[in-house]
Amino acid sequence: MRYFEVSTPRDLDSFHWSGSYRAERQWYLPSVLCQRCETWGVMTAYPSVDLSTLPEKDELKSVWPQPLEEYVRRKALVLPFVPPEIQLEPGCQFGPLVGRAMGRFGPVTAMPSWQVLVREDTLAAIQEAGLNGIIPVRAELRNRRTKELPQYELEARPLVKLHPACIQDRDRVPTCGYCGSHGFYLPPERWLLGESIPAGLDLFGVEDTTRIVVSERFVDTVNRLGPSDVVYREISVE
Ligand SMILES: [Zn+2]
Repeated sequence: MRYFEVSTPRDLDSFHWSGSYRAERQWYLPSVLCQRCETWGVMTAYPSVDLSTLPEKDELKSVWPQPLEEYVRRKALVLPFVPPEIQLEPGCQFGPLVGRAMGRFGPVTAMPSWQVLVREDTLAAIQEAGLNGIIPVRAELRNRRTKELPQYELEARPLVKLHPACIQDRDRVPTCGYCGSHGFYLPPERWLLGESIPAGLDLFGVEDTTRIVVSERFVDTVNRLGPSDVVYREISVE
């Protein structure tokens, strides 16, 4: 199976579609204000995690940095609502995108590149093709163009790792013994660790990055619906 990183085209003149949106999520874990390292958080989003029945949900409205103890307290509130394969980290976001959309949307939208949205007909084609690991969540986007089809965000759980050999030691952030902060600067030359890819998965996030990767099957399926303003860059596997 070949895999491709999703990104947004740089050349605005080559865009086929006018669609854009402004939206936010309802709930967040705060970033951590660490007394030993620095303020840190991730941008990973879990649109499928619904905290609407959590009594303390109003305490999760802000990503504003908090001391580690407060982060740990809020994380404990969210934990029962999250599937075990999801690793909660500071800055995680939950719930569907809520906001406004303008213009016409192509089959797939990735603006920014870490939010992949598909039209309702695209989702139907993906499901008909039997693609695996697709977690669609309807984005609550109001569009004055009433003929526009609903948009579904595809949740990209960061289940797959970059190959350790593509990350230089100088680009690694040492793990903080107090708050657990860790990570690396995204290497321009990168490839996936083959053994970390669950068999047959057609869309996933890459651990400790904002990257979303799709399979060749995914690209073939969505391209049958026509052009999208998305760039697919092949990423190799070792
Ligand atoms: Zn720290």
